[in-house]
Amino acid sequence: MVNIPENVARVQERIAVACRRSGRRVEDVRLVAISKTMPCEAIRAGYEAGLREFGENRVQEAKAKRPALSDLTATWHLVGHLQTNKAKPARELFHWVHSVDSLRLAEKLAQAAPCSSDRLPVLLEVNLGEETTKSGVRTEEIAALAERVAQFETLELRGLMVIPPFFEDPEKGRPYFRQLRELAKEIESRKLPNVSMRELSMGMSHDFEVAIEEGATIVRVGTAIFGPRQ
Ligand SMILES: *Cc1c(COP(=O)(O)O)cnc(C)c1O
Repeated sequence: MVNIPENVARVQERIAVACRRSGRRVEDVRLVAISKTMPCEAIRAGYEAGLREFGENRVQEAKAKRPALSDLTATWHLVGHLQTNKAKPARELFHWVHSVDSLRLAEKLAQAAPCSSDRLPVLLEVNLGEETTKSGVRTEEIAALAERVAQFETLELRGLMVIPPFFEDPEKGRPYFRQLRELAKEIESRKLPNVSMRELSMGMSHDFEVAIEEGATIVRVGTAIFGPRQ
């Protein structure tokens, strides 16, 4: 049996230790619990243990689960690849989208806004050039995309997201996290209108401490909270 409250406490403690070690404030790292494939009861158990931010990777799955969770005051993040034809439901279901990987998708998300004053926080998903990560935008194209995405009034560009290739050894992810931070810094230095690169969504169950040391402001943790997926 997976003990979700215990796992939540353990993950929060690991985040606190990583923050202390790197001289960061724990409030500056937000924990998004990735609940994909997990039943609503698991999400509810996480909520009762204090979690307030959850992430899913598929629109369909989120749509199926959310009615049973409508009483929770939670922030929902979409972290998986999004097809342009699902931009509208995605915008209805999620408060954040981490996986913007094309101008076309950004445009669809912008058009799906319920009103002109509604701004959806978005991150650009970066492909740091490793063969094994197929999703995301190439590094060289990020600044140009950022400039365009920042022009949509119903989107709020907040930063970058990366899913590095999987390594057993979490230290091997460090260069990728560092590259993402440096890319964000480089783009910020251009002072493009409405472009903020403050948020770095990086780090998962096995490597979030390394990501925090490298500047993650959002960690996406599934297995370490909910146990292994089927
Ligand atoms: C599944 C998933 C996670 C969580 O992975 P764990 O290893 O279970 O922590 C994080 N980010 C994305 C984009 C995912 O799809």
